[in-house]
Amino acid sequence: MITNVPTAGEFIERADALLHLSYSIVSKLYDNQREDWRLGVDEEDLRAYWDKCAPSLANALALLQQAHELYLKGRIAAVSPFLLLARDPQQWPKKAATDDVSFSEFLTVGAAELPRLHDMVCSPRLDHKARNFLNTIRERRNMFVHQGHAPTSSAAELFEATLITHKWAHPETPWFDARRTHLQNDHLSAIYSTDHVMANLHQEFAELLQELKPAIFKELLGFKKKARWFDCPNCKGRMGDFGDARETAQLSEATGMPVVDCLVCGSSSPVIHKKCYNPKCKSTVYADAANGWDESCLTCGADEGFEAREAERERHWNSPPDSDPFP
Ligand SMILES: [Zn+2]
Ligand SMILES: [Zn+2]
Repeated sequence: MITNVPTAGEFIERADALLHLSYSIVSKLYDNQREDWRLGVDEEDLRAYWDKCAPSLANALALLQQAHELYLKGRIAAVSPFLLLARDPQQWPKKAATDDVSFSEFLTVGAAELPRLHDMVCSPRLDHKARNFLNTIRERRNMFVHQGHAPTSSAAELFEATLITHKWAHPETPWFDARRTHLQNDHLSAIYSTDHVMANLHQEFAELLQELKPAIFKELLGFKKKARWFDCPNCKGRMGDFGDARETAQLSEATGMPVVDCLVCGSSSPVIHKKCYNPKCKSTVYADAANGWDESCLTCGADEGFEAREAERERHWNSPPDSDPFP
């Protein structure tokens, strides 16, 4: 009898883990050279950096392809895991007829055959776009694994490929929800706490905003890259000391009640329109204090204490150098 038969859920869980590991590798490489850190780094240095990263990017691509294989196996296993066994029963391990033999000792259907098998037993079938995408990633991975050629992948391409994969595998789950769940269960969360997660998500938002083209950004994340971005009061309140909050929310007046919808945390926060306390700021979108946040500008952060703080700053800078600024 065949034992340790894998379930659909196990395949999908493993696929998710590989997908997020692949993304984390690329994101870390990207983070090391982020724009606000690379003072004095010229184009040539940057090229050299990414050349050195090629093997790591290739590994990330290989992990992504493995995730594809496991997602397909998961869907097939939901029909029956035994469909994944390759060859005729005559060629299966003979002892399986008399003893218990683990599923892992059987040859299973190869990666190239999985899309066809999927379409024979699963509904809906892969569409043309998904099939081409899976094939392209598999071919590029094979060039690396079998011929040793590191495929020329950029961080942008791999970000996009990961998000396409996630949307295909989990069309109902927004990317940042999945990413938050993953980071809340990662190695750092295991040893410390989940306090770093929000800052991490905001950094990842910044890299996607920088690297994805507007049409792709809209298709994969559902927000308009070029539209105006505002602070999200919900994210800001949960940021802690781990990093700076980015502007991750966009204004929506669709329901008649103006709100800012956040791409990262998924919240909708009511806002009011008012002239900013900061005369240099042209924004008129303020967090609604009635909802637990301070009434503050979602562009420059100014609140009702702005004028008093500015006057205090002015007094401090204008006081003679030998006088005590805090008598
Ligand atoms: Zn948010
Ligand atoms: Zn303002």
